[in-house]
Amino acid sequence: MEILKQRILEEGVVHTHDVLKLDAILNHQVDPQLIMEMGKQFARLFREQNVTKVLTIESSGISVAFATALELGVPMVFARRKKTLTTDAETFCERVPSFTKGIVTDIMVSKKYLTANDRVLLIDDIIANGDAARGIIRIIEQAGAHLVGMGVVVEKTFQAGARTIREQGIRVESLAKIAALQNGSIIFE
Ligand code: 5GP
Repeated sequence: MEILKQRILEEGVVHTHDVLKLDAILNHQVDPQLIMEMGKQFARLFREQNVTKVLTIESSGISVAFATALELGVPMVFARRKKTLTTDAETFCERVPSFTKGIVTDIMVSKKYLTANDRVLLIDDIIANGDAARGIIRIIEQAGAHLVGMGVVVEKTFQAGARTIREQGIRVESLAKIAALQNGSIIFE
């Protein structure tokens, strides 16, 4: 998505060799018009898949997932992060390492909002090692729902996450692919 790449170049900040700060458009402030364009693009890519639910993880995936769900005319559910893993029978829970926080967090989705009848489109903001995605994919499996694919705003192709998920046979569509963060510069694929 050209407009997204342009905004990443203008407003992204290379934090370290493997972390890009996108606080100006995605992770702190959000640009509603840009987010709506992302939602339209994901809806175009997955419209034929009869999606019944768009799923994401709080918090940065929510705006894009909302825009996608609005375009597809289906509900959006966000997995909530909990401090401790409980054995609540009414939720699906998984433990995932957090890339940016350097800690392990538990994510959960209520059994009310994800069922075996659902065809799920997973949306996330940035994919690095893929831990968050794998956690939510395990939740989809627990629910017996069908995962139609995953849409990510930014794929860092120099980290293994998206590749390993594709190797599992899951369709992953990214709006921008970053090959490297070098000497303060953002290199697109
Ligand atoms: P993963 O689980 O794929 O390693 O990391 C995914 C999560 O970590 C994303 O939801 C995103 O919020 C955060 N993340 C990963 N890499 C970056 C990055 O370069 N910049 C920012 N701002 N967040 C990142």
